[in-house]
Amino acid sequence: MNTNGSVLFSKEFEKKVKSDFPVDFLTTNPDELKTFGRDWTKFYEPKPSAVVFPRSTQEVSRFLKLCSEYRVRVVPSGGRTGLAGGAVATQGEVVLNLTRMREIGEVDPLALTIKVQAGAVTQAVHEKCAPFRLTWPVDFASKGSSQVGGNIATNAGGVKVIRYGHTRNWVLGLQVVLMNGDVLELNGALEKNNTGLDLRQFFIGSEGVLGVITEATLKLHPVPENLDVFFFGVEDFSAVLQLFQKVRRSPFQIGAFECLTDACLQAVKEVRKVSPPFQGTHPAYVLLELERSHSTPRETLEPFLTELFEKGLVQDGTWAQSPREARDLWTFREGVSESLGTLGFVHKNDISLPVASLKDFLKDFDKTFAVRHPELKTYVFGHIGDGNLHINTMMPSGWERERFAQICKQADLDLFTLVQKYHGSVSAEHGVGLVKKDFLHFSRTDQEVQLMRSIKKVFDPQGLLNPGKIFD
Ligand SMILES: Cc1cc2nc3c(=O)[nH]c(=O)nc-3n(C[C@H](O)[C@H](O)[C@H](O)COP(=O)(O)OP(=O)(O)OC[C@H]3O[C@@H](n4cnc5c(N)ncnc54)[C@H](O)[C@@H]3O)c2cc1C
Repeated sequence: MNTNGSVLFSKEFEKKVKSDFPVDFLTTNPDELKTFGRDWTKFYEPKPSAVVFPRSTQEVSRFLKLCSEYRVRVVPSGGRTGLAGGAVATQGEVVLNLTRMREIGEVDPLALTIKVQAGAVTQAVHEKCAPFRLTWPVDFASKGSSQVGGNIATNAGGVKVIRYGHTRNWVLGLQVVLMNGDVLELNGALEKNNTGLDLRQFFIGSEGVLGVITEATLKLHPVPENLDVFFFGVEDFSAVLQLFQKVRRSPFQIGAFECLTDACLQAVKEVRKVSPPFQGTHPAYVLLELERSHSTPRETLEPFLTELFEKGLVQDGTWAQSPREARDLWTFREGVSESLGTLGFVHKNDISLPVASLKDFLKDFDKTFAVRHPELKTYVFGHIGDGNLHINTMMPSGWERERFAQICKQADLDLFTLVQKYHGSVSAEHGVGLVKKDFLHFSRTDQEVQLMRSIKKVFDPQGLLNPGKIFD
């Protein structure tokens, strides 16, 4: 028995699972416990009691019902690329991993939809839709491993939010299993449905604390006819924002507007062994992707680009001449997170600010960190067009992890105080999980958190599903 009265895992429960489910349904193999008990955050010690791999919604339903009877706690788990510790099992929970539920249905070219199981890998969905010149516009560097269920449970963002919005916008219907085994079919494939509260929305971004997503009907969008990708060197973050304003008010459709500092670019250069697209270095860089239809020739962009240089909005720049060159330019942005992780131990933050406050916030941030944390080297990059900044801090060489963690905790408090001052969010897209739980009050009121707890009680009265994530 643990402190909240739930049984962690017992021999009797294990025996029952083994008799009621297929022979390969449950594992207690130590290597698999370690692999499936963690996500990308790595710094939590995984300690699940078992991992189960259902193949159908019916198996998920029977299993959750059994867990409710035995009061066993369950952690839903997808591709385990999460950066908030949401899929981590540190307290003897059973991990329910969706990997075997990865069927992808047929594309409906009239409705522009596709029905998939929750374990379908994000990139596999893109590949299935590509021959129809359609896509599910949820796109980021971890798409080769992340799963649709995980994307929905985190309401994932990524590099295309500025154009298409969050995952929430691209989910029509959901199938969800509750802890008591009930299977909910929410909204089917309806575009319009004003019949009371939209329950589907509760589960999008719920980080697995309300129910297990087992299937989804996804909305698709036509793939843009042409993508023009540019990489610019600019004077500083102020210049990044000036450029953003200019591009946003141009007649061209922005597909992505991403930024990174020179420290980030140097990290990618070192790890990926790639040459930057131009010789000199610049304090900050912008990756710009514009969508263009076939009827608009490339040349229409030229006067616009000339103006950017003439007005001093950019210092240097390059325009990809082929899809291969475009991919190479994207490497400088998409390779940042992984490259930093390869170079050292990194503490990550994922904050957002109202776009209009970014300039003042960044000035305040630079000043505060120069005075209070001069020993920390920060790497700033992100989806600047959405006001979303990833602020990573590298552990200085020779430091013990414990000392680094303590300093980062203090630095986080300073950072989140600034975020609060500018009415931002301590988690723009990665979620709360375990990582941001203690800092939730910087972005949400006590009243809001209390309402979240009440909603959880409705769906999971015994508190067995993903316990301790988002709030206690
Ligand atoms: C290199 C890199 C780049 C990234 N870039 C971005 C980015 O740009 N934008 C962004 O938003 N994220 C980004 N991420 C974070 C991560 O990829 C996303 O949060 C992703 O949506 C998680 O999907 P997953 O399948 O890996 O989920 P997991 O990590 O397995 O789980 C995440 C959360 O969802 C829950 N969950 C998983 N599956 C289910 C299910 N079927 N039902 C109910 N709950 C479930 C888990 O319990 C957990 O709380 C990045 C990660 C990496 C490693």
